[in-house]
Amino acid sequence: MIDTATGKAEEELDFVICQCHKYSNPDHRLNVYLLNDEPELAKTILSALQTYLEKFEADYGVYPYDQFSVVESTEEVGFAFPKMTWIGSQLLHFPFILQTSLPHELLHSWWGNGVFVDYTKGNWCEGFTTFGADYGLISDADKKIYRLKAITSYLDYAHTGKEISLSQFISRGEDRSLQAIGYDKSMMVLVMAEQRVGEKIFKLALKEFYGKFRYRKAAYQDFFSILSLLSGVDFTAFQNFWLYSVGILPKDFVQLDWQNQSNQLVATAEKMALSKIPGQYLPMQLQFTDHSSQILYLKVNAEGTDIQMSPLKLTSQPEFYFFDQDFLLFRDLNENEKPVTFSTAFSATELKLFSNDSELLKAMEIAFPSTKISFTDDTFNLKPDFSIRQIILVDSNHANLIAEISTFLKEKNIFISDDHFSLSDKNFSTKDHSFFTSFKIQQTTIIVFGLGLTQTQLRWLQRWGHYGAKSYVVLNSTGAEAQGLWLEAYKHYFTF
Ligand SMILES: [Zn+2]
Repeated sequence: MIDTATGKAEEELDFVICQCHKYSNPDHRLNVYLLNDEPELAKTILSALQTYLEKFEADYGVYPYDQFSVVESTEEVGFAFPKMTWIGSQLLHFPFILQTSLPHELLHSWWGNGVFVDYTKGNWCEGFTTFGADYGLISDADKKIYRLKAITSYLDYAHTGKEISLSQFISRGEDRSLQAIGYDKSMMVLVMAEQRVGEKIFKLALKEFYGKFRYRKAAYQDFFSILSLLSGVDFTAFQNFWLYSVGILPKDFVQLDWQNQSNQLVATAEKMALSKIPGQYLPMQLQFTDHSSQILYLKVNAEGTDIQMSPLKLTSQPEFYFFDQDFLLFRDLNENEKPVTFSTAFSATELKLFSNDSELLKAMEIAFPSTKISFTDDTFNLKPDFSIRQIILVDSNHANLIAEISTFLKEKNIFISDDHFSLSDKNFSTKDHSFFTSFKIQQTTIIVFGLGLTQTQLRWLQRWGHYGAKSYVVLNSTGAEAQGLWLEAYKHYFTF
């Protein structure tokens, strides 16, 4: 990923000289400089840039310079300067760049190169740019996954080591833990602030921040002063923790209990956690034994000392509840909330394979040379003990023979027959596709898979090895036709 909108790079480098083919949009505000004559690529980039430029101008205010150029580089660098971004050739040819680096680098024209960063108070511009581009431009469903990933990357990389505050973040370099602070945590702090004041006021504050500080240095607190003025909300305590201190909210810091005698719901909370998010809405959903559900309105009071619950009329007995199932709070996660991904299997020392194809076992042993693979072909007696920690691979012919697995597949809308399978409402032929899906039943991680005939079993397995961060993937002869994560909402059961 390319990135350095700000920082030392721009001081060292003032202009780029290249022998390039130049392409421009009709008003010459947007330019693309390519090393080779590739009009189609230039057209695609210009058209995407135009769309983003219009959106950002509408959202934040007029673009601060006369033009913006994307320049291809022979070296795999990525820099953003005022008026220009310099992108490595290989990266520039990946189609995903149109949705990732390109809008990110353009948005730095507002955050970093339009409003400058006062580095003595922390580099806020990466968080703002991530919030507006990488996160802000995707669908709501993808946003939920993005938030979960931001929290996970912080927990994996930053929370364990010597953590710095947002006010101490300067730039990430190649450091994953610094990225988890200056990009992921910063973005999530903005998500929480947006939840606190509402989308409309938040958007207005961004616009006003840009209008007021264009061509001037600014810090996080300049933005929060504007947000406070527009919303009437006091962000002092919020800033003290999220900008100047380190850490994350604990998991399950609010708990619900059901009191049988009085037929009442009682909420208890960790006071320390509440003080970090005064006035914050706490998303909760109640699920009843008759399968109906109800949103519960819980809010931290303005002082950050207690929680307020809206009065409830319960018509049925509650069975369990979800707390922050959309990951709108920057909080620690329960083990069950983290999606099951293939990486669990790829890093395992032992796997069990349920199949009656001994050729498959051979292919698997070559694909995973450091893993011990045991083989079970007793197809009529498949009763795995799900209460033990283990990883089992089940070929698609056997998946429906195990009741628990068959139930999971139905829940996820996955149907497997001899010649077809369907996933996410799409049909694929089993002949020329392969699919892999992973999930958990109690302590056991299960991977169900089917391999097409157009490539060797080994080839499919090797290709699957590139999708460690996914819960499911459908491969065709050249690439992935579908891939993603299964998110499991974590159920908190009431005890009676
Ligand atoms: Zn950036």
